Amino acid sequence: MEICLPPLVNVQISNCIGWQTFWTPTKDNEVISHYKLSNLFNSSEINAISSIPIGGPNVKDELIWPYSKNGEYSVKSGYHLSFSSKQVPPLTSSSNDVNSDQDLWDSIWSINTPPKIRAFIWKACHNIVPTRGTLFSRFHGKFTSGSSCPRCGECYESLEHVIFFCPFAQAVWKISDFGYSPNHRGFPGFAKWWKKLSMLNNKGLFSNGLDLIAFLCWSIWKARNALVFSASSESPFVIWNRANSEYQEFSASVSASVSSNASSFSSSTTALARSWIPPRPDFLKVNCDAAFDPISKQASAACVARDNSGRLIGGNSLLFSAPSALVAEATAIRLGTFFCFEYWME
Ligand SMILES: [Zn+2]
Repeated sequence: MEICLPPLVNVQISNCIGWQTFWTPTKDNEVISHYKLSNLFNSSEINAISSIPIGGPNVKDELIWPYSKNGEYSVKSGYHLSFSSKQVPPLTSSSNDVNSDQDLWDSIWSINTPPKIRAFIWKACHNIVPTRGTLFSRFHGKFTSGSSCPRCGECYESLEHVIFFCPFAQAVWKISDFGYSPNHRGFPGFAKWWKKLSMLNNKGLFSNGLDLIAFLCWSIWKARNALVFSASSESPFVIWNRANSEYQEFSASVSASVSSNASSFSSSTTALARSWIPPRPDFLKVNCDAAFDPISKQASAACVARDNSGRLIGGNSLLFSAPSALVAEATAIRLGTFFCFEYWME
């Protein structure tokens, strides 16, 4: 099937951007409405595009090299990239990749664990956990004392070795409630293993099992770090018990906070209102905050400005797409800054 797109002559990115530089198609303008994102891209591409944070209307476009901290190309960063090209995801991906990454992302950020454990699972899925093996190959043997496992000393220390195939890890899995015996042959790698478990979890084939598995993987990794950095070695039984009790404790605290949230809402908002500190006379204070849903990537931000007596001067709010909570929070600050600027101009 041939798809006819409207001619893109003289169309710029700014034509797809609406009020206050967000990826919202402008509805007022008849010409521009032809170039709404929905006319040009499919839904997964629109989601990916609309969650890209963009600068203000007066910021010039510039080329950014994404593999260095300051965004500028250097021979050193190019050299590192060329040697680690197998681990670097392509900058452009097909729609399938976007969906696939989206599924993986959703499966990780929907589990019920502290953020540090979700971050660990995300790193494990992208093979960027700093094991001796990955550090050794990344730096060609520099800065590392070798690539072998610090516990059994026999194998190349990959993430899979630490979490699944080291005899120590095997013992932990064996005595856990899962009674699991990871098999080296045909193992698909951490990301695919996690995705498969996530699918089973979504079908309700094990209740909350994915959360506990995340705690257990984290616990095994922490045990590895304790051995490397503190020469501390505990038994597989202790590692499993710790993962299980931390999981139970965390689940109980989440349930308790959910059930108490409704009743404590009014008292907590009262306490919050009391804690507000007024600005100096002749100054305004702008408070801003954001909320972010990691599954739908939808975010909202709001700001309110008050004077020294606490009188509401004005405010603003916004619904938008964002790639992370951090971007949502930054957007809230930008919203507050815009408000200040416009108020000052008036
Ligand atoms: Zn080992």
